[in-house]
Amino acid sequence: MSRQYNRIEDSERVTMDREPLMPVRMRATVRTTGDRAAELRTAADFRRDLWAHSPVEVDPDHPLHGTHRSEDGRAYFEFVTAFPEQARRVMDDFNYGNAIELSEAPALPGEECLNCGNVAGPIRPAVCPNCGFQDVSPCPICRQAVPRQAYIGLAGERYRCPHCQSRVRLRFNSPMFVANGDYNQPLVIVEEAAAVHEVR
Ligand SMILES: [Zn+2]
Ligand SMILES: [Zn+2]
Repeated sequence: MSRQYNRIEDSERVTMDREPLMPVRMRATVRTTGDRAAELRTAADFRRDLWAHSPVEVDPDHPLHGTHRSEDGRAYFEFVTAFPEQARRVMDDFNYGNAIELSEAPALPGEECLNCGNVAGPIRPAVCPNCGFQDVSPCPICRQAVPRQAYIGLAGERYRCPHCQSRVRLRFNSPMFVANGDYNQPLVIVEEAAAVHEVR
C-alpha cells in the first residue's frame, strides 16, 4: 500500500468515523480519436497514473480486467474507489481531461466475446466492437443486428424479435467450429419460425 494511500485515508478518517464510505464503481472511457492503438495507449497510461496516485482497485464483486471496447467502439476500463474525487483529481493533474471521460456507477459488465474476451456492455452485442466476431446473425425478417439476449423467449428454441416482433428460432451454427478450432461465424443462426411448427 503506497504512502499516498495512507495519507488519503488519514485525511478522510473524520468522514469514515461518521459513516462508512461506499465504494463507487467508475468507468474511464477514452474519447474516440480514429487511432485505435493510440486510444489503447491512453487507457493504459491513465490506468497506470490512476493506480499510482489514488486509492483504486478492480471491483471485487464485478471484476473486469483490462481495457475493453463498449458497444459504440470506445475503449474503456472500470475500477472501484471510495474516493471518486481523487480519481478526478488524477485526471486533471495529469492532463487527461481532453482524452478521458469518467463516469460513476456504469451498468454492470455482461458476457465476454467468445472470440476475444471483450466485454462491450451489459449484454453481449450481435457483433463484437473489438474484433468483429459475429455472435448471432441478424433477424431474418427485419435485418436488425439483435443481441442474442435481447430476443424474447417463448418456448424451447422459439423467440420473438424485440424489434419487429416476428417469431424466430435460434440455433447454433453447424459445425460450431471451423478447421482451425475457432468458432464458426455467426455462432448462432436466427431463422424465421415456420408457421407449420407452431404449437397451438
Ligand atoms: Zn471480440
Ligand atoms: Zn426482427
